[in-house]
Amino acid sequence: MADSSTRTDFPARTDSPARTDSLSRTDSPSRTEAPSLVDAQVLGRLVTELQVRGVVDPAIAGNQGRRGGAGPSDHRALTINGTTVMVPVYNAVSQDSPFQLQQDASGAVAVADRAGAGLAAVTAPAEPAFYGLSTADGTPYKAIALLHGRDVLATTLLQTCIRFRDRSQSCQFCAIEQSLEDGRTVVRKTPAQVAEVAEAAVRLDGVRQLVMTTGTPNSDDRGARLMAETAAAVKAKVAIPIQGQCEPPDDPIWYQRMKDAGIDSLGMHLEVVEPEVRRRILPGKAELTLERYFAAFEQAVAVFGRGQVSTYLLAGLGDSAQSLIACSERLIQIGVYPFVVPFVPIAGTPLQHHPAPSTDFMVGVYGAVAALLRASDISAEAMAAGCAKCGACSALSLFETAPDPKA
Ligand code: SF4
Repeated sequence: MADSSTRTDFPARTDSPARTDSLSRTDSPSRTEAPSLVDAQVLGRLVTELQVRGVVDPAIAGNQGRRGGAGPSDHRALTINGTTVMVPVYNAVSQDSPFQLQQDASGAVAVADRAGAGLAAVTAPAEPAFYGLSTADGTPYKAIALLHGRDVLATTLLQTCIRFRDRSQSCQFCAIEQSLEDGRTVVRKTPAQVAEVAEAAVRLDGVRQLVMTTGTPNSDDRGARLMAETAAAVKAKVAIPIQGQCEPPDDPIWYQRMKDAGIDSLGMHLEVVEPEVRRRILPGKAELTLERYFAAFEQAVAVFGRGQVSTYLLAGLGDSAQSLIACSERLIQIGVYPFVVPFVPIAGTPLQHHPAPSTDFMVGVYGAVAALLRASDISAEAMAAGCAKCGACSALSLFETAPDPKA
């Protein structure tokens, strides 16, 4: 579906690259200054537009981001008016984007239209210092964990998944084993390796949280054991908030074990919600029913607390706005943060040519879910750790902190 939004929704363009001077936000995640409604809406819409359409990147210097892997990918970090977000630059959509990154003679970087007219000044975060290090056995630290956003260390503990090898069963958007095939990561990160990298990333690069995800192993704990063992090793070495992400384990005892081991918040990801969409997009994972997930969410919230459990909702894969909003409302009621993210088609996956959602669709869902969050006792900011706390793959937290237009 073609995007119905236009560039005239943005601040008026000038010939100079910088044009976000009307925006005045503090940096995520510590957004202590309340933005004006206009500022937050303009920034939220601009971020959404960039995330659904991507940006042509002539390899501007800085942290190059990542291709493939688990979760949102094929993107790099850009800081716009103090807020760091992930923007697709490597997938097919971004190659046809109406936006490009450009750099002037002074080194200043801007998002511009394809004619070269600047729309917004941006900075590209530098490669972190820990990328230059290796373990004693010669494994590069960046094969163990990567810097996400501005200050998040992220790792995929097990880079294989019981569902991935059979594409009739795998999640159709996922590229978890691609980075393995390219030799950019290792199949299984040991707890000692992750702890070593986490300590260095905190010390050298000011990393403030660790997000650990995993492919699903062929065991009843669904990766919870790996999460717990790694969290314990990390916390023994460095005090850093940790989010674990896995499928619901068969035995709920694992929630307490993960918490006791040092996991502060937990992500269990629905991804999509309507039955037909779940069967089409997650043929294997859809065997775990929505009701099974909701039972798991309630068990997890009982251990981690309201607002410390979250789930991804990938918008743009067929779920209606009403379904996404209704599911978000139900999640918020039981204390689960619905991290709504635009679907980003990843190169090499069955959905690589699936259209991204439109900006208008995303802004509509964000606005409604943000209003539900503002009326609740949970928020991105109050999470101890995790993707919702980081927020770089979504504009939801920008809408969440915007003043209510009806107030
Ligand atoms: S939201 Fe999650 S996946 Fe996206 S950059 Fe932040 S930590 Fe990484």
